[in-house]
Amino acid sequence: MLIVMQQQASDEQIQAVCRKIEEMGWKAHAIRAAMRTAIGITGNAGAVDAAPFEALPGVVECVPVSKPYKLVGREFREDDTIVDLGDGVRIGGPELAIIAGPCAVESREQVFAIAERVRAAGVRLFRGGAYKPRTSPYSFQGLGEQGLKLLAEVRAEFGLKIVTEAVDAESLDLVERYGDVIQIGARNMQNFSLLKRAGRARKPVLLKRGLSATLDELLMAAEYILAEGNSQVILCERGVRTFADHTRNTLDLSVVPAVERLSHLPIIVDPSHGTGRREKVLPLARAAVAVGADGLLVEVHHQPAQALSDGYQSILPDDLDRLMEEVRAIAAVLGRPLAAAQPTAAQAAKAL
Ligand code: PEP
Ligand code: MN
Repeated sequence: MLIVMQQQASDEQIQAVCRKIEEMGWKAHAIRAAMRTAIGITGNAGAVDAAPFEALPGVVECVPVSKPYKLVGREFREDDTIVDLGDGVRIGGPELAIIAGPCAVESREQVFAIAERVRAAGVRLFRGGAYKPRTSPYSFQGLGEQGLKLLAEVRAEFGLKIVTEAVDAESLDLVERYGDVIQIGARNMQNFSLLKRAGRARKPVLLKRGLSATLDELLMAAEYILAEGNSQVILCERGVRTFADHTRNTLDLSVVPAVERLSHLPIIVDPSHGTGRREKVLPLARAAVAVGADGLLVEVHHQPAQALSDGYQSILPDDLDRLMEEVRAIAAVLGRPLAAAQPTAAQAAKAL
């Protein structure tokens, strides 16, 4: 149930409603928006009786929530969630958020070479896995904490925000310490204990859609994180399994407007895992921005033939420059700005 407060309700009145909810043994989630404050209730096993709440001062009405998810729904919060990472980097606001970098952190030389070009392209968020959930136990599993330390060096050197994956509670502790955004991968979308741990983290969470997850399942997975108190969640469409054999996955762009209607959470699109082939990344990136995504996640490698994972789908730094240019033009049609490119020292010297 959602308790809607009068626009001019005082802090004491809001707190009194929250106290009443907690006295019942439930959890209160107050969301203050420009027009009104709404208080959501979670932790109740059965239906909630509205009468005791309707009688409290400052309450306008009690609205039953019709969806299985509560906190992630638009019913609960009308305004878009904007995840603010500091230094002017936001996900879910008017500006598009582009996240780029290699699939995996392989070495200092590798991440530094890629990060320099990523930053030069005007990208503010760097990705790279230090923990890799691989289909085969014999494939490269990531550098672990050493990889996270390299990512922290990238942040210090290039001023990029770090998005990196946690695969279990132990790696999440470390990712929370070293990273700026905790990625939960497709294979872990329904790892409920990991989602709960992410919900207790103090960093935003990038939640990728599972390989065969429906939209409701994706939203319910996000609900686990919000229910634990972390409202900073970014959803990510990365393709789902279908019978199509011309592509690694089928990138479901129709999920973007569907999410925007149902949820206030930002949604970004990953055309790299969504297609699995380098040549398809740029066309699908353009389409994702056109359909209204809040950003993109793309894999970039300066030597994709030598990459330890996902080389086939990694675009080259020059392709990233082109992607940014084209996406910037499409974003402008939609009134969404994108940070400008900043030439590297070498490019600036060449131009002289
Ligand atoms: C990744 O981002 O490198 C990754 C493993 O993604 P996904 O979980 O979508 O397969
Ligand atoms: Mn990958």
